[in-house]
Amino acid sequence: HLHPTELPTHIPLEKVPPLYDGHRAALSLNIIVVGAGLGGLAATYTLAHAGHRITLLESASVLGDVGAGIQVSPNATRLLHRWGLGPALAAVAVEPAAIVFRRYDTGTRVGYTRWGARMAHEHGSPYYHVHRADYHAMLLRLARAAPGVRIRLGAAVRDVQPDPAVVGGPSVTLASGEVLRADVIVGADGVKSTLQKAVTGRNDAPVPTGDAAYRAIISTDPMLLDPELRPFVETPEMSAWMAPGRHLMAYNIRAKKEYNLVLIHPDDGSVESWTEEGSGDKMRADFADFEPRVQKLLSFVKSTLKWRLMDRKPLNTWVHPKGRLVLLGDACHPMLPYRAQGAAIAIEDAAVIGALFSYVSSISQVPALLHAYEHLRLPRATVTQESSRLNQKIFHLPDGPDQRTRDEAMRAAMGAELE
Ligand code: FAD
Repeated sequence: HLHPTELPTHIPLEKVPPLYDGHRAALSLNIIVVGAGLGGLAATYTLAHAGHRITLLESASVLGDVGAGIQVSPNATRLLHRWGLGPALAAVAVEPAAIVFRRYDTGTRVGYTRWGARMAHEHGSPYYHVHRADYHAMLLRLARAAPGVRIRLGAAVRDVQPDPAVVGGPSVTLASGEVLRADVIVGADGVKSTLQKAVTGRNDAPVPTGDAAYRAIISTDPMLLDPELRPFVETPEMSAWMAPGRHLMAYNIRAKKEYNLVLIHPDDGSVESWTEEGSGDKMRADFADFEPRVQKLLSFVKSTLKWRLMDRKPLNTWVHPKGRLVLLGDACHPMLPYRAQGAAIAIEDAAVIGALFSYVSSISQVPALLHAYEHLRLPRATVTQESSRLNQKIFHLPDGPDQRTRDEAMRAAMGAELE
């Protein structure tokens, strides 16, 4: 919740709801959002509905069917429902009945937590598994339909000038040399963010985490013909196999017609990209010591995507000192996907920035509003970045005393779950 005493003054923050409530700003700002990923699209939607004119700039010339499965936890689905996406989401999502952790070599169950309807009951909204392309497409439709939105593809931002005191005011320069001016600039340009450098004043590259992911989608048709694999489809679960230095996450997407595999392993020189092809044979060799059911699943893989997992140390600030440039999503809080929260936290960012900017009535309020956004979001994103890193250690423990302690604790909790 926004607490007026903790936030900058001279804005009626006590009137601002924690989430966008349909209020429209008295002053309509000209806002540039850089990056049409999940975060940038969501921010385009919320800021447009708050009454602002948005130019969304995306370097890619085509927005297409990239990536693989993605988990959408209740903190995100709750917001997506508020934005009217409930039916569209339900149409493309699979609702997992549980999360199950297994030992890699035997497949023995070491952890189990029931999800399904309980998620909606306890967290107010469902947990979904979807294809990232479906998720992206629904946010793109939402952003496109919002009032006052202009989306420009093939518009790579090369540079940013965030100082309002410079003649012409804040601006971005595209690779083509074209200069576009704005009242506020939102950098949602992902883990390799150009705008992040302008905010921090440092030229820090994202940090390799030591891990990489193979990602593959297989048809569930052959799984349904195999009595050992059929249960993975019939009772859709979030299945995780934990191994020393590696883990595998697997779940159903697209009406259980497809099965998504994310295979985390030590990075051996991949790149950070949604579209880099990996070698299926190398992937099978890297996971050859996993239980026989995994070998069967991997035998169905025809092609894989390979992705180097990068993050950054939490930033001290997301707002440029001149108060007109702000970061959102992976641009400011890239994290390992080991809590499945990267996009979910970006969706939350978008909800909060839209809510705050629905109450702006003077340009002089912008720096304080951006700091309010940072104040509300940065601690939560930082905790999530750090706990995602912690899961890297927990999931990847070498076989030995720590692993046995982990498994015993998970088994004990599982016992209570199954009672
Ligand atoms: P991005 O999606 O990276 O979008 C940035 C956009 O900016 C891109 O379209 C890019 O082309 C554009 N861009 C970049 N530079 C420029 C420029 N200079 N000018 C113009 N445009 C530019 N999150 C979850 O919530 N749940 C999960 O289950 C989950 N699983 C994951 C699994 C893996 C293997 C990985 C790698 C990530 C996972 N994530 C998950 C994280 C999630 O994918 C990201 O956090 C999320 O996509 C970030 O969205 P974004 O909009 O901030 O950035």
